[in-house]
Amino acid sequence: MSNAAYYGKVFIGGEWQEATGGKRRDVTNPANGKVIGSVASATTADVDRAAQAARAAFDSGAWSGLPGRERSRVLLNVSKLIRERADDLAQAESADVGKPIMFAKNIDVTTAADQFEYFAAQAQVLDGSVRNAPLPAHAYTRREPIGVVAAITPFNFPLILSSSKFAPGLAAGNTFVHKPASETSLSALIMADILTDAGVPRGVFNVVTGSGAELGDHLVTHPLVDKIAFTGSTEVGSHVAELAAKALKPVTAELGGNAANIVFADADLDKAIGTVINAFVFNTGQFCMGGPRLLVERPLYETVLGILGNAVGGVPLGDPSEPGTVIGPLASKSQLDKVAGMVDRAKAAGARIVAGGKKLDINGGYFYPPTVIADVDDAAEVVKDEVFGPVLTVQPFDTEEEAIARANGTRYGLAAGLQTSDIGRVHRVAAKLDAGIVWVNGWALLDPSVPFGGVKNSGWGRESGEEALLSYTRTKSVVVAIG
Ligand code: NAP
Repeated sequence: MSNAAYYGKVFIGGEWQEATGGKRRDVTNPANGKVIGSVASATTADVDRAAQAARAAFDSGAWSGLPGRERSRVLLNVSKLIRERADDLAQAESADVGKPIMFAKNIDVTTAADQFEYFAAQAQVLDGSVRNAPLPAHAYTRREPIGVVAAITPFNFPLILSSSKFAPGLAAGNTFVHKPASETSLSALIMADILTDAGVPRGVFNVVTGSGAELGDHLVTHPLVDKIAFTGSTEVGSHVAELAAKALKPVTAELGGNAANIVFADADLDKAIGTVINAFVFNTGQFCMGGPRLLVERPLYETVLGILGNAVGGVPLGDPSEPGTVIGPLASKSQLDKVAGMVDRAKAAGARIVAGGKKLDINGGYFYPPTVIADVDDAAEVVKDEVFGPVLTVQPFDTEEEAIARANGTRYGLAAGLQTSDIGRVHRVAAKLDAGIVWVNGWALLDPSVPFGGVKNSGWGRESGEEALLSYTRTKSVVVAIG
């Protein structure tokens, strides 16, 4: 179906429908501030209908009751259709979020397809086990789907972060109600079309677009919803977890990040600089697992600042629909204002702006240049809080212990990285970093087989890997008396 046919609608029980009340929200292209379409503003009545459809589909067994191998075939179809519709998806993601088209296609779309391919294989091997219990009985476990999952996703990686929930959740036999971020919902609608064409039965997958503030509590506490898979800010995630806890619903919460990237004096400097830049500009810095806090061993501090000051202005920035663009706009005006406000306050407090530091006036878009900030301490807002823009703070350190303590010194713990040529240090430091994933001599190396997720205020649970699959299952023990 063409995108235009379902933009502005909700997808419930296998059908595209007007939202109750018929209200819509404009979708703006952040590269030029122009309205490019609209999405439905769903109501709590739509959430009710979506939850009922997902419940009925789950209880019917049309999906949950299929052998894993049959679900696997459908998920492989999903992966194939995502690749076939790569241009469609990439263009929607680029126009909606401001992602450079080359990344939207080669990273976002590809990762989404890879997720379905990986979990299609997992669906075939998901199994319980026989327990060697000293009982007059045969004891075994079953891995069963949990039921109806409410998937709530953020604005920055709509396609990847929804696929990293749907692929393991569907592989395990669950059904879904998806509430994408209201700023960036378009790819969620295309995915509903793809899942349907791939053979996912009616009602197994439902999408309600609309405001999290208006729909979120209702969805999370809905009596027909069994599990919450949330990705977003620490503040909203904590609220969601609190609501879910009252109803004793399991929650996976992938929340904010503010990773440190530690460059030791023995690192391969050329390679490290490339990694540092990539880690803070990728997705215009709207990357929960980005590396916005650079810690540099003191002898290299001014050298690194000098290189970064010269280099970052050369990273191609501009129209995300151009194939050579590396940095697009921020995803919304509110995100632009938030980032600019944090940098302005750092400047006012005496920080040194080594590069960038001022909004760019390009074509009415929400552009901010790669910005490097020096001479800030750990208590500065721009160091301790999540900026979520193309902003790098650079701080010197003197010892390995200090670097570890400073890297661990925020409330977040999603990712961390170190650049060094000392193999002993690699293992020593990686073990002590308080983070769900540690990258060494690189950044953002991700795969559907490699779990990621947070510690501390970066959340609970893991996405990707066997860990993700198991989080969409519950264990039942069956003990059969013998004789
Ligand atoms: P957000 O404001 O927390 O929103 C995330 C989602 O929650 C959106 O769909 C939002 O809807 C919805 N929501 C808002 N209020 C809600 C409520 N009361 N109940 C339930 N849902 C509600 O986050 P964001 O600004 O979109 O995304 C950026 C944040 O996500 C950053 O902190 C980033 O680090 C984090 N993130 C984490 C990961 C990870 O893997 N750990 C990955 C990506 C992003 P609306 O859009 O309608 O407000």
